[in-house]
Amino acid sequence: MATGEFELIRRYFIRSVGATGVALGIGDDCALVQPPQGCPLAVSMDTLVADVHFPKNADPELIGERALRVNLSDLAAMGAQPLWFTLALTLPKADNRWLEGFSEGLFSVAEEYGCALIGGDTTRGPLSITIQVHGTVKAETALLRANARAGDSVFVTGELGDGAAAVAVIQNQLDVDKAAFKYFMSRYYRPRPLLREGGLLRGIASAAVDISDGLMADLGHICEQSGVGAVVNVKRLPVSQTLNKLAKPKQILNWALTGGDDYQLCFTVPASRLEKMEMLLAQGKIKATPIGEIVRGSGVSCMLDGKVMPIQKTGYQHFEPSGN
Ligand code: ADP
Ligand code: MG
Repeated sequence: MATGEFELIRRYFIRSVGATGVALGIGDDCALVQPPQGCPLAVSMDTLVADVHFPKNADPELIGERALRVNLSDLAAMGAQPLWFTLALTLPKADNRWLEGFSEGLFSVAEEYGCALIGGDTTRGPLSITIQVHGTVKAETALLRANARAGDSVFVTGELGDGAAAVAVIQNQLDVDKAAFKYFMSRYYRPRPLLREGGLLRGIASAAVDISDGLMADLGHICEQSGVGAVVNVKRLPVSQTLNKLAKPKQILNWALTGGDDYQLCFTVPASRLEKMEMLLAQGKIKATPIGEIVRGSGVSCMLDGKVMPIQKTGYQHFEPSGN
């Protein structure tokens, strides 16, 4: 690597966030890290490609935030807590203003969650950001996709559909006032990784997944890996007031079921642990809605007024006409 490149890394990417276990950070051939004793590492990676996962000209600070937030969401879905991350950055050019904004956004999230940047790679090419997060969770309490059983209740945190509506706003397909614009941009670029919730669900949820590709697809992963089916009561789907006021019910339902980018958690709870779950809800420790049930069989079906509802998958698309 040229001196100029290391200068860039030093300037924008060497920052202490007070994480534990980092024996050697950025600068050598490898980082040296020590996970807490007896805990395996939970490792996950997500790539964000310009004009596929975010508009190329978006505010770099927001891109930095989103890149780390969506990665942390995977740790949350596992019930893991974050430790460190690495960053592979491909840039068309070394644009100081862009890097300044990007690193600001990135480190605001890194600091909030005590997750240290310990290394990476910097290359020239079309703008693309890959982050690998490392977290920790005891293997026996990790929230896997494969452990849902017939009879479990299906829950979803927060509200659904805002992520897909935000994409429509960004693509000028949905007209909104200033306040709603701000709301949707925040929902899209600054999803809160539900790490606290993931932690609380250890020992209560039988299976969990974060909703990045839409409820149907992601609950579908739980069903597939657990060898079960799911029935969702569409009247139960939680939707934000902002979205409710803006779009037609059919569109909202479509976004809530098949739109991506919400980063809520979908999880299942066995009957024997429902009481504990209800306690968490009553204490306000977690905001979640029961939306259906795990059944024998396969696939996710949607029920409306006691009838099975056919679902067309049209909600998911990023920034190219054919989706990805
Ligand atoms: P090598 O040539 O041995 O692969 P590099 O010259 O690519 O190493 O990187 C030098 C150091 O800077 C390494 O410690 C690497 O992890 C770190 N680094 C490179 N790019 C980034 C980046 N985008 N973010 C954080 N650390 C980085
Ligand atoms: Mg390298």
